[in-house]
Amino acid sequence: MSRKYEFDDSSAVVVIGSGAGGGVLGAELAFQGIDVVCLEAGERLGLADFVNDEALMFRKLTWLDPREGSGDLNPGLPAYICKTVGGTTVHWTALAMRPLADEFAALTKYGAIDGAKLMDWPIEYKDLTRYFAKAEFKMGVAGTNNWPYHPGSNNYKVLEAGARKLGYREIDMGHLAINSVARDGRPPCRQIGFCKSGCAIGAKWSTLYTEIPKAEASGHFELRPESMVVGLNHAPDGRITGVVYADKDGVIHEQKARAVCIAANSIETPRLLLNSASSLYPDGIGNANGHVGRHYMRHVFAGVAALMPGPVNFHRGIQQAGSISDERYHQAGRGFASGYHMEGAPLSPERLASVLEPNGWGRDYAELIEQYTNFSACLVVGEDLPDPENRVQLHASRKDSNGLPIPTIHYQYHANSVAMREHAQAAVNDIYAAIGAKQTFNFGAPPATHNLGTCRMATDEKEGVCDPWGQVFGTSNLFISDGSQFVSSTTANPTLTIVALAIRQAEQLGRRFVQREL
Ligand SMILES: Cc1cc2nc3c(=O)[nH]c(=O)nc-3n(C[C@H](O)[C@H](O)[C@H](O)COP(=O)(O)OP(=O)(O)OC[C@H]3O[C@@H](n4cnc5c(N)ncnc54)[C@H](O)[C@@H]3O)c2cc1C
Ligand code: SF4
Repeated sequence: MSRKYEFDDSSAVVVIGSGAGGGVLGAELAFQGIDVVCLEAGERLGLADFVNDEALMFRKLTWLDPREGSGDLNPGLPAYICKTVGGTTVHWTALAMRPLADEFAALTKYGAIDGAKLMDWPIEYKDLTRYFAKAEFKMGVAGTNNWPYHPGSNNYKVLEAGARKLGYREIDMGHLAINSVARDGRPPCRQIGFCKSGCAIGAKWSTLYTEIPKAEASGHFELRPESMVVGLNHAPDGRITGVVYADKDGVIHEQKARAVCIAANSIETPRLLLNSASSLYPDGIGNANGHVGRHYMRHVFAGVAALMPGPVNFHRGIQQAGSISDERYHQAGRGFASGYHMEGAPLSPERLASVLEPNGWGRDYAELIEQYTNFSACLVVGEDLPDPENRVQLHASRKDSNGLPIPTIHYQYHANSVAMREHAQAAVNDIYAAIGAKQTFNFGAPPATHNLGTCRMATDEKEGVCDPWGQVFGTSNLFISDGSQFVSSTTANPTLTIVALAIRQAEQLGRRFVQREL
């Protein structure tokens, strides 16, 4: 039974955001009997709202409030993140990978690199092993816990055949957080495709229909959708006392809080800290050393579409069709640090058309489009390096509908990323050539789906924004609970690590509440 808390009730932890970080953290706290109010900017949809229409669902789910991008970013849509209950876990394609153990020591592993500010994480892989296992169980990750991998789609089979011809060995359908067997009250995947539009049967893990209803059933959790947090209030000693938010009618409320955890994704989390500046925190909360918003990372993303001699029907079946991981390992002599993996990834007709030739026209172009069913496509995802100049800031003059400065995001590719991208696209071209592709088309990154690093954790407050448990330096009860904490991007898609960190943080907060430290 969902609880209701009064605005002046300061007994609850306020969690901001209900996606991978916030949804999991809030639920894990509620399961321990800790009261939680979860404030979520987006509306609450149900499975019946998900229709197999990518363009429509993109408009319904995505964060389209104004943001400005500069450098190598799309100026109007610099990041691809959701504004809905469940956050980006409603839209994600669910590849739940663990990073490699030594990727937590990026500086030690790769050495100093000009133009980047590499640092080792203040925690090690072994500190997270237990939490990775819990996260995989919670999320129902195929290929773990004796759950089978999903059957390969045609797109996967094409890539697998080419990769095996070239001698690649680490090839599988991927650790997908999609039920391959019925479990957790949800059915197995029916291979309908359209995972990005929201899984209409709930086979794909999303906090919307896993953690959040379970947390509500605990009697210690209240979700307030359409509640956009605009600021944090604090006492003279810096303790956060309340969270200010605008409800769906624009009415401003303050929810008192025992502690506050921000999981608003790597753009809105630093924006909120910066927008909460006060006389005690003149440059924003947690920003005494100027790190809030800096070291913004995505992943190195690029892709290749290939016209094959016969039908592939790459749009059928699970969208994230497998992964090839052999190129993931750092190898001296490739001309770049770290590595990348390849993921089968179909393109919608609209996207394929723009990949073939933006604004294309004419007979040759039409003939290509007519062969939509003969296409295969593959994405590469590689480690991006932290650079302090890649950063989220507040716009000097543009405001949103609540009167707050909008975020600006600046991002420039590092030379390492450019070299990695070229290597990766050449490798995918070789795979397709090995199985007789008639033509291939390289394409660049879409707006960033993996957004990381803008409030990084550190042992020393001069080096980051929060400590190894996510507690914001200079505050006693404020925590970062999303991918903003990442110190390096690693070669893994980030969500499994975000979930593992949230479970670990909930455990530590629970201990501290029992010991009355908080
Ligand atoms: C198309 C797509 C495919 C993806 N595929 C994968 C994949 O295969 N594997 C993988 O690991 N990752 C994938 N991702 C990325 C993954 O979804 C994110 O890494 C993950 O959801 C981030 O979790 P989070 O908690 O940080 O943020 P989110 O899940 O984005 O949640 C943040 C929430 O905070 C809310 N919020 C923001 N600001 C405020 C505010 N001021 N007040 C109240 N609420 C606020 C937002 O509305 C949102 O609901 C994909 C993403 C996209 C877009
Ligand atoms: S392919 Fe599977 S996970 Fe994806 S939308 Fe369909 S049923 Fe859901």
